[in-house]
Amino acid sequence: MVRVRFAPSPTGPLHIGGVRTALYNYLFARKMGGKMLLRIEDTDQTRYVPGAEDYILEALKWVGIEIDEGQGVGGPHGPYRQSERKPIYRQYAEQLLAEGKAYYAFDTAEELEEMRKRLEEAKVDNMSYNAVTRMQMKNSLTLPKEEVEARIANGDPYVIRLKVPLKEEIRFKDIIREWVVVHSSTIDDKVLLKSDGMPTYHLANIVDDHLMEVTHVIRGEEWLPSAPLHILLYKAFGWKAPEFAHLPLLLKPEGNGKLSKRDGLLGNFPIFPLEWTDPFTGEVARGFKQDGYLPEAVINFLAFLGWNPGTEQEFFTKEELIESFSLDKIHKAGARFMIDKAKWFNQHY
Ligand code: GLU
Repeated sequence: MVRVRFAPSPTGPLHIGGVRTALYNYLFARKMGGKMLLRIEDTDQTRYVPGAEDYILEALKWVGIEIDEGQGVGGPHGPYRQSERKPIYRQYAEQLLAEGKAYYAFDTAEELEEMRKRLEEAKVDNMSYNAVTRMQMKNSLTLPKEEVEARIANGDPYVIRLKVPLKEEIRFKDIIREWVVVHSSTIDDKVLLKSDGMPTYHLANIVDDHLMEVTHVIRGEEWLPSAPLHILLYKAFGWKAPEFAHLPLLLKPEGNGKLSKRDGLLGNFPIFPLEWTDPFTGEVARGFKQDGYLPEAVINFLAFLGWNPGTEQEFFTKEELIESFSLDKIHKAGARFMIDKAKWFNQHY
């Protein structure tokens, strides 16, 4: 049975790309007679924005994306919140430690900075802690066992890192991007568990996708570079990886580059349905709802941001979208976000 998830981080209001990701997951789940779950990825406390979770729930409700698991605060199934699942992630990090697939690292911020500088001088791009450099650092692979135990007993801060194999070809077939091949020597020994005991995104994300029996990971293309590491993690645990489908980028209206938060209100389009007051800047932003859009027209507009049915039909009810949807009609090329097109849908719907 198909199981998909929408896994936003509560770092602000849900913006256009996030709602499109949720919509494609929803359409696919409904089409396949599967289930969709909602998981709040809130392990990065420094980026947590109060109120964001409520906004996400309201936004999905307004636009008509029904969640099968994890919606309804305090309900029998959730919402799943990673901050409430900390012991689970630690247990899995410790499993990798016990199997020699991960290690403790005690390096201080200054030591890491020194290494970064050394690599910069040696003109090594884009690499930091990996199979080559880890042997020069302070970790449980280089320190005597007694010292490691003493440091831990002493409460010295440490992180747990994945021991990435030096020579391994990682290949997988993304449903949209097709074959992706990456060599493991280009991947750092990523931190799995941080010194505050919180898991990193990578560990929590793959442990949850496994435990929640997710069959298809449908998410934005910005996560494609993380996928090879995720494949390595699935392998380390001996788990079957889900299918991946990385959605095309959203581009500026002129098509010149990625739509980003720096593009102001458009880039950070705080879709629906609440007026959002940024808790840090005090800036108030309005979304589609305040501007009088129909949720049905918004869904129709969003569906076409990176997908089309391959027919002349432009106006779809939600049911018709479900009927026509398939992952193989999602485009590879980026999709331009044009607000005039949304207006047009709204006027004609
Ligand atoms: N928490 C990530 C985000 O905010 C989710 C990435 C994923 O779907 O794996 O986009």
